[in-house]
Amino acid sequence: MEQYAGFFDTLEELDLLLSAAPLRGKLGSARSVLAQVFVSRTEDDWAQAVAARVAGVDARIVVVGASTAGEICGGQVRSASNVLSLLLFHTAELHAVAYDCAPGQEAAVAARLAADLAAPAAAPLKGLLLLGTGTDLDTGLLLQALHGQAPGLPLFGGAAADSVQLGRTLVLHGQRVLDQGYVGVGLYGDDLEVLRQAYLGWEPMGKRMRATRASRFVIETIDDQPALDVYRHYLGIGDDDQLFLNAMEFPLLVERDGHLLARVPRHALPGGAIEYIGDVREGEELQFGYAHLDGIVERARGTQAAVRVFEPQAILLYSCNCRFFVMQQDVELELRPYETMAPTAGFFTYGEFCDLGHSSPLMTSTLLVVALREGPRDGVPALESDAVTTSRDVYARSHARILSRFQHFVRAIAEDLEHANRELQVLAEHDGLTGLANRRKLQSLVAVETERAQRYGQDFSVMVCDVDHFKRFNDTYGHEVGDEVLRQVAHALVRQVRGTDTVCRYGGEEFVVLLPHTGLDEALQCAERLRSAVAGLCEQPGHLLPCEVTMSFGVAGYPAHGLNEAALLAAADRALYGAKHAGRNRVCAAGLAP
Ligand code: GH3
Ligand code: MG
Ligand code: MG
Repeated sequence: MEQYAGFFDTLEELDLLLSAAPLRGKLGSARSVLAQVFVSRTEDDWAQAVAARVAGVDARIVVVGASTAGEICGGQVRSASNVLSLLLFHTAELHAVAYDCAPGQEAAVAARLAADLAAPAAAPLKGLLLLGTGTDLDTGLLLQALHGQAPGLPLFGGAAADSVQLGRTLVLHGQRVLDQGYVGVGLYGDDLEVLRQAYLGWEPMGKRMRATRASRFVIETIDDQPALDVYRHYLGIGDDDQLFLNAMEFPLLVERDGHLLARVPRHALPGGAIEYIGDVREGEELQFGYAHLDGIVERARGTQAAVRVFEPQAILLYSCNCRFFVMQQDVELELRPYETMAPTAGFFTYGEFCDLGHSSPLMTSTLLVVALREGPRDGVPALESDAVTTSRDVYARSHARILSRFQHFVRAIAEDLEHANRELQVLAEHDGLTGLANRRKLQSLVAVETERAQRYGQDFSVMVCDVDHFKRFNDTYGHEVGDEVLRQVAHALVRQVRGTDTVCRYGGEEFVVLLPHTGLDEALQCAERLRSAVAGLCEQPGHLLPCEVTMSFGVAGYPAHGLNEAALLAAADRALYGAKHAGRNRVCAAGLAP
């Protein structure tokens, strides 16, 4: 197969492309011809005129197309231009379909598409090119439905775009222009091979957040705040009609089914909610993403290597418009290498279509590379060319260099903050003197344990323990010695309990032990063990204690003595009071709750 492609701004320039001698020479011997036209203008007249000119060359040419947010050809990008790509197949057959689709009909269209493309040709279906209008249909739903109908369908393509106005977009099939619908072309061939590689390259930055209220395309709240407030806070983006333009470089990244998906805001809704291109799910973890330019160019090498060894004869590129926006002309750095492998053509989209094996989500912000070949590889892949990815001009890419330093700076600060937050978290949950969990941590652990106990019908116990006559250590030997006593007691308690138990310093010389999955009898035995370990401390060699230390214990069990933290601790505390009264250095069980 061969691809002939070029930019054109006028119909005369299009005619020149179509009359090129090499193309004319080959057309006659092609089994089938697929023309894709990528047009920057979204008027029917223009699209129809272009399609008519192409179809006029040879009646067998299947013409499809889409409106764009930028055009790609020969390793170069342009905006407000047009691209013609002609794929001449030696053996493959084509079958094209087009469907108008109103919102809500996406699943029905998927079913028709799957049925219509199932078996119109004798040869196997090796690729399905899908182009859809880009702004008001739920293409995520269509892709999902298609995946359900025909899993493993080798799908590729993109959503039509406009000049970043989110206005009218169009797809076309022959002379038929659809401003709400889908065009599909089945590629059938015994020796046709299609390799699809989708690649994001955006990296998460800043805080991990959660979509606390969301449905389908709309996020109402992020971390319980109106979504727009989060954009205002982190990106300085307010509620203007430019949200799409301002926020598309910083999509929200969502990890779903092992793939990182980008979600770009479409516009703000009343009340601070935001509507996105692509679906979002309530409860999903989100992070703002940024385009790490050097990283993108560097990591694109893996994709390039895969395409190179495939030995393509033609390459189609469907790239999200936001890549063009962020990287500007530098976006060519990631596109040019493909041109050294085979002729390339494509456009900047409002969404990329490519099934990911076990799922088929609508992607945005990605570059989808589709490599095509008829016949076997000859075993001699194109040479890797570094020259195309690096520029020697010191003034070139200064914008990218500055941006990438800023990105580095922001990432370093975010990492510093995350580190500091982790340390603060440890401090907030632990006691400085003994290193044990503190009261706040215990409260959250008991809450979790109570919920688990309720759900699974398990027991757990708590014990409150208090050093006997502790005041006298302070009074007689000073506070320093008192502190040392507390540290030694804490260690003795921790040594005696299971790894799943938690010893916490509740306050002063009072400790609480949480014993998950432990009934009252077992907890009483454990308390007795702790009591005896503390009482035996001053018999340990090198103990550094001025005199004997003892502790008293009160033990209470869930659910017999209480159903929540406060009730359980009160019951254990009353038992402790009993132990003190009965002479200290002993264990008392809570009485049954009244
Ligand atoms: P009882 O057997 O009835 O529990 O008598 P007690 O002396 O242990 O009880 P009391 O509540 O009268 O005294 C507790 C003392 O613990 C009072 C307080 O100054 C001291 N204390 C509280 N926190 C610390 C601490 O972090 N370090 C030191 N050294 N002493 C502390
Ligand atoms: Mg005490
Ligand atoms: Mg006390």
